[in-house]
Amino acid sequence: MPVHQKSDEQLSLLMPIERVPGVAARRAEAFRRIGVVSLAHLINHVPHRHEREEAEGSIEDLELGTVVSVRGEIGSTKVLTYGRKPRFEATLLDDTGRVELVWFNQAYLATKIHAGDRIRVQGKAGPSKGGSARLTNPRWELLPEDADEPGSREARLRPVYPATEDLPSWAIEKVVSGVLDQAVPLLEDHLSDEYRAERALPTLGDAFRMIHRPESDAEVSDAQRRLIYDELLLLQLGVAMKREYIRRSLRAPVLECTPEIDERIRARIPFTLTKGQASVIEDISDDLGRQWPANRLIQGDVGAGKTVVALHAMLLAVAHGHQGALMAPTELLAEQHYQSISELLEGSKTRVRLLTGSLPEQDRLATLDAMSAGSADIVIGTHALVGEAASFRSLAVAVIDEQHRFGVHQRALMRERKAAVGSPAALSPHVLVMTATPIPRTLSLTIFGDLDVSTLRGLPPGRKPVATRRVHGARRGEVHAFICERVDAGDQAFAVVPAIGESGGEVELRNVNEVLAELESGPLAGKRVAAVHGRLKRDEREHIMGRFRAGLIDVVVATSVIEVGVDVPNATLMVIEQAERFGLAQLHQLRGRVGRGEKPGVCVLVTGGGTLTPEAEARLDVLVESNDGFVIAEKDLEIRGPGEVIGTRQSGVAPFRIATFPRDTELLMLARRDAQAWIEASPTLGKPGEALVRRRLLKAHGEGLGLADVA
Ligand code: ADP
Ligand code: MG
Repeated sequence: MPVHQKSDEQLSLLMPIERVPGVAARRAEAFRRIGVVSLAHLINHVPHRHEREEAEGSIEDLELGTVVSVRGEIGSTKVLTYGRKPRFEATLLDDTGRVELVWFNQAYLATKIHAGDRIRVQGKAGPSKGGSARLTNPRWELLPEDADEPGSREARLRPVYPATEDLPSWAIEKVVSGVLDQAVPLLEDHLSDEYRAERALPTLGDAFRMIHRPESDAEVSDAQRRLIYDELLLLQLGVAMKREYIRRSLRAPVLECTPEIDERIRARIPFTLTKGQASVIEDISDDLGRQWPANRLIQGDVGAGKTVVALHAMLLAVAHGHQGALMAPTELLAEQHYQSISELLEGSKTRVRLLTGSLPEQDRLATLDAMSAGSADIVIGTHALVGEAASFRSLAVAVIDEQHRFGVHQRALMRERKAAVGSPAALSPHVLVMTATPIPRTLSLTIFGDLDVSTLRGLPPGRKPVATRRVHGARRGEVHAFICERVDAGDQAFAVVPAIGESGGEVELRNVNEVLAELESGPLAGKRVAAVHGRLKRDEREHIMGRFRAGLIDVVVATSVIEVGVDVPNATLMVIEQAERFGLAQLHQLRGRVGRGEKPGVCVLVTGGGTLTPEAEARLDVLVESNDGFVIAEKDLEIRGPGEVIGTRQSGVAPFRIATFPRDTELLMLARRDAQAWIEASPTLGKPGEALVRRRLLKAHGEGLGLADVA
């Protein structure tokens, strides 16, 4: 066996990680565990930040008051636990002297740093009582046994990699720096010289060299700019490709909204449409008048009045002799829509049907028959609508309500319901999705980039914003008295808590069982109180909510399962316990459950014991200050970042690796414009020079965006 095989082997990007020079056998598995299985993955594993590393000096030369870096051997260590802050102290020696090291509140370091260890520290040097220098809370790293290289003489930016316990950042750095120069020339750029020059972007190779081994802050930002642009561009190309495909290859029934039809539909709606509703209806009508399927997201705050907008579109389908469908995430919501839409259409010729899984078999079969025979004009239901048994004679408008409760999959299934089956060219329905979780514009352009977006602004007239107050948990008694007062006045209330039963976690969570018992036995004795949570069977849960809606229950104690869509106009009070445990969007949704009728609503945020994190403080402040879901969504994005705001499930698109918002909004706009122009000129990226970008695009988003039949 040739011993030198590994180092002699020609480097290639596809080379498995265990064969990459510098990867010790015991590390290969650790690399694979973080998804780094080849050299290409390794180069793609970019540092998430960089640290300035000062030039190392000897201990006798270090200057008090400056940031210094020294390496040496640990002399002695001790943990001091008296006083308010336990601390860990150590001495560090090199050939020229000694410094004292102290870490406050980090007694655990005693298990990490031992006498005799060789370590490198960096921090600000101050005087110590003993006369030598002292570093307080310095950054530290154990020097690996095989780190026999001398200390760095020059200050540099050091990459900090996403790492794990058995694969520390320095180990990744060591492997990367060993192969970087050879690997970089292997990287093929999918953007042409000219294209890059126009946008002042470095080559892919330069970008990776600069992100792994930057010589200046400017290099880091140049590299980031290129890599973030790439990430955004690939997604936008995918999105643009899909839109273009829908436009060019799919056909939908043309549903023209003539003034007569429009008038007839509006006559059915018992109130004047708000400006916002009118303008969204206009967007939709424009869509439906085209010969390719609409694919539009309608976002409007809770209570903004999205239902009639959906109804307008479905009636437009009916007016043209086709069918409309509305899919809701729960049976309760489907029934609620069915009731209100049936009421609006009372006395008209339009035949409305309900389809849910729990309908009696006979009714279910009758609805299925009516759908396929075309004797149902509008069908409202749950995901049963896209079940195998369900088919439409001629579905022209499909609406998906509260789409964040569904996945991309259901949207695709809806689109696949053909309109006018049996006609020579099967037509696809227009698809509208509605959400009450406003999405910041940057995000809607990314994860929902294949959708057109209409924003329903404003609330129907007369609606008063919900007054929101923050109350400390110590004053819970007063809150309970307030619930009692409202119930006596004939109103209804929600009490939302974070857990169902005892959690046994570190922090005791207020739970449904506990709060129910507390209220029933004390403050609300004699009132009708019921519990609703996710562990109840669905029909049981919906039965209780039905009784609540009918006014047969005064107070519902619940978990956040009641978050979406429940419409109980007589409920005016929302009490949320341990409000700091909930997300901003979730709190806003919960608050939207009240103030839906004539009477103004009140939301009380009860905070738990202990101090809140600054993030929790910020969340609650935003909520008290604003009632506007869009403002709240933007703040949420600022506080939490995009990865958290929207899960992957509903978008299908992987979260960003490097890009983050709102920071990268400008690059997003650039990438979006570029992608649109590119796809317009080359709809499937089929030109000779485009093979590489096309391959990378399909690899990144082919599945998530369902591009298989597109490209
Ligand atoms: P959401 O956007 O949360 O789905 P809904 O469509 O359920 O909101 O509407 C909330 C309430 O407002 C409903 O009771 C509805 O009848 C009423 N509503 C909708 N539009 C108007 C309007 N233009 N004027 C008065 N009330 C309206
Ligand atoms: Mg709704």
